This record gives sequence, structure tokens and C-alpha cells, in this order.
Amino acid sequence: MKSSRIPGFYKMSVSDRKKMISEIHNLSNKDLQLFDGGALSVDTADNMIENVVGTYSLPLGLGLNFLINDRDYTIPMAVEEASVVASASYIAKIVRDAGGFTTEATDRVMIGQIQVIGSPDLHQAKDAILKEKESLLQQANKAYPSIVARGGGAEDLEVRILNETADSLYQQMLVVHIYINTCDAMGANMINTMVESLAPSVEKLTKGKVYLRILSNLADRCLASAKCVIPPHLLGSEGFSGEEVRDGIVLAYEFADSDPYRAATHNKGIMNGIDPVVIATGNDWRAVEAGAHAYAARHGVYGSMTSWSVDETGNLIGELELPMSIGTVGGATRVHPTARLALELLDVKSASELSQVIVAVGLAQNLGALKALVTDGIQKGHMALHSRSVAVAAGATGELVDIIAEKLIEANDIRVGKAKQLVGELKK
Ligand code: NDP
Repeated sequence: MKSSRIPGFYKMSVSDRKKMISEIHNLSNKDLQLFDGGALSVDTADNMIENVVGTYSLPLGLGLNFLINDRDYTIPMAVEEASVVASASYIAKIVRDAGGFTTEATDRVMIGQIQVIGSPDLHQAKDAILKEKESLLQQANKAYPSIVARGGGAEDLEVRILNETADSLYQQMLVVHIYINTCDAMGANMINTMVESLAPSVEKLTKGKVYLRILSNLADRCLASAKCVIPPHLLGSEGFSGEEVRDGIVLAYEFADSDPYRAATHNKGIMNGIDPVVIATGNDWRAVEAGAHAYAARHGVYGSMTSWSVDETGNLIGELELPMSIGTVGGATRVHPTARLALELLDVKSASELSQVIVAVGLAQNLGALKALVTDGIQKGHMALHSRSVAVAAGATGELVDIIAEKLIEANDIRVGKAKQLVGELKK
């Protein structure tokens, strides 16, 4: 089994880490080169977006220690913020000792929306659409037969009436939802193709005019969830008993779930874990962000994406469920060379499996932040790991980076101003 438990990985040089990972995952030298900046050529980039003048690199780290459904995962994370990867790996080790994460996913059903305006009778229009449901689904599938051949395609349809009592005809509308199984693709392009193909039939049936035809990023039928159960003795840290940490985490969750000001920061911490994996695998992180935050507000008030509670035996229970509109094919997943390598390292067999890994990382990241917040505070660990970036920002290079970083930590003053002063002194 490819273990993701690699003690001392953080202390190794970058080349030793690459060697170690290539041995564990049987990567070739050619594969390893894809870790280096510049793996995405300007020519490829020029085929991806418009007005290309170059490419843009981010640090790529590996989240370690993840045991999910009894399987080890080494998790590529592309992120510019210090302490994210360390915190995820630290918590994954605690959860590993508690038996690992368990995860689940719904079918991968995404939503396409068609907006209809001006129907003379909204209810008659709704009935007309529902009566023709089967033929509309068939028509949608004809527009993208290859996804049907893969076992997916349009499966169901619903009609919603919005703003029925509004005076303005601009506000009254019918919205047709097409539910489409996108298999291992995120599916935006196939959904958009399908809903566009239905517009003429929908106009005819509703006697209205179709305006928008596009997927919804609130993909609440394409959910992934992760859970961890942690006995309190695994949560203790210097000066804090496991029970104190556990109870502090539950209180922190209650705060986030009761206050959107706190929830925004709490959830940002969850996305600190999710986005780097989404980015590393070439997926659309704006789509995942949009879905996650909309889902967190689904009850009418923006709240916590995670929930934390204590079970009857005193264990801490953490749970996270989110829409996960990602793919292991399509978009940039197979175009960006490093994304291809990231998927190979993850060794996931399907988009459903990838979505479950991603929510497990989000749950770990949330616990990492909460554990720090309810004990030492976030700054102690974060700023120590941030110190090398601060040294670089102050102009340190080569060996000076570590020397300055250490001096900043010793002085308990991790600021660019202080680092500049030290750079000046040491250069003299
Ligand atoms: P693609 O258009 O690249 O489509 C994926 C293709 O992969 C399918 O058409 C299918 O083609 C092929 N494929 C191969 N194997 C499988 C499999 N096992 N399961 C499913 N498909 C498979 O990508 P998407 O449709 O996924 O769209 C994603 C892109 O759309 C992202 O880049 C995203 O940024 C963008 N986007 C996002 C929007 C949003 O979020 N609001 C809006 C518009 C675009 P075939 O069957 O023919 O082989």
C-alpha cells in the first residue's frame, strides 16, 4: 500500500522529498519534472485562455497522513499561504490515529437552469413542461449522446415558479431545472449544451421567451461528505486537556453557526484546504467556492459549513457536506501537465472519489484552525511558518532566509520591518 505517512518529510530537502515520493508512487524522472515551475508551457497556456503573456506558478506541497475510508492518500495542494499544508497534515495524523476519515458522496447529478419569461399562465406552462418531461429529457440527451453512452446524461426535470405574486412581469418567471449525471466530468459545458438545445421546445410549450440557459453552481445533488470521530485524548496539547480542546472546538462551531461574521472566516479556513486540492487537480475553484458558500446559506442564513459535536462517549464528531462540482476529466484536468500528475499521485478512480478526498481535507483544515484558535491562538504556529516568507519579502536570499526566519521567531517579532533590519545588520 502506498503510505502517506512519511515521518520527517517536512525536514527533507525539496530534492529528497521528490525522490521519496517518486519511489513510493513509481514516478519517472519525466513525471518529476512536472513538479518544477514551467511545466505548463506558454504554448499550452495560450490554448487555454486569451491574451496569454506567460504562466503563473504557485507552491505545490503534499498533504500527508490522510487515511480516508481505510485508504492512504498523498494530497497535492497548490497554495500560496504558509501553514495550510502543515496544519492539514498535522490534523490528518490525529484523525489517522483515531481511525481515519469516513466519506460518502451522492450520485454526480448537476443542475442546468432555463429561465422563461412572459408565459401568459405560469401554472399552465409548468404543466405543459412536466407533461413533455420524457421527450425533453430525450432531446437533451440527443444534444450530448457521449455522456449517455458513459452511463450519465439528463435524468430528471423539475419546474419552479419564482416571484409568482410580483406585479412586474420582469420578476415573474418559470425556471426549468434539468438534472444531469455528468459522470467523471464537472460537466459545465455538457450541461450548457443540453439546456441550450432545449430552449426552442421550452418556448413553444410555455408560450414564453427563454432567457438564461446555464448550469447552477449550487450543485446540491452532487454532494460529498466527510466525517471524523476523535477521542479527546488525541486532542490535548501543551497546557490544554483533550476535553478542553474538544469543548472549545464545539463552542467555536456554535459561534460560526450563529454569526455570519464568524462563519465567513470559519468557512474560509475550510476552503483553505479545499481550494489547493481543487487548483492542483486543474479544477474550477470558483465553481467549488460558489457552490460551497451558497450551500452554507441554504437554510436562509449563512452558517458554518462544518458541524462539531460530542457523542455519548465523549468523542469529538466533525462533519462536512458540500457540493463538489469537480472532475477527473474535462476542463484543465488533463490539459495542465501538473494537474495530470496531481491526479496520478492521488490515484483516484473517479470524480466521486476525488470529491470525497477534497471534503476530508476541508474538514481537517477546519479542525486545524479551530484547534489552534481554542489553544495557543492562530498566530503562534502560523507566524512561525510564515517567517521564511517574511524574510524573503525583506530581501533575504539563500542561507540568509533560514537565519533571518529563526531570528524573527526567537525575537517573537515576525514582521517585514524587523526582517529588513536583520537583513541590513547581517549583510554588514
Ligand atoms: P469538458 O467540456 O472538457 O467536458 C468533459 C468531457 O470529458 C466530456 O465531454 C466527455 O467527452 C469527456 N469524458 C471522458 N471521460 C469521461 C467520463 N468518465 N465522464 C464524463 N466525461 C468524460 O468539461 P466540462 O463539461 O466538465 O466543463 C468544465 C469546464 O467548464 C471547466 O473548465 C469550467 O471552468 C468551465 N465552465 C464553468 C462554468 C461554471 O461553473 N459556471 C460555466 C462554463 C464553463 P466525450 O464523452 O465526448 O468523450
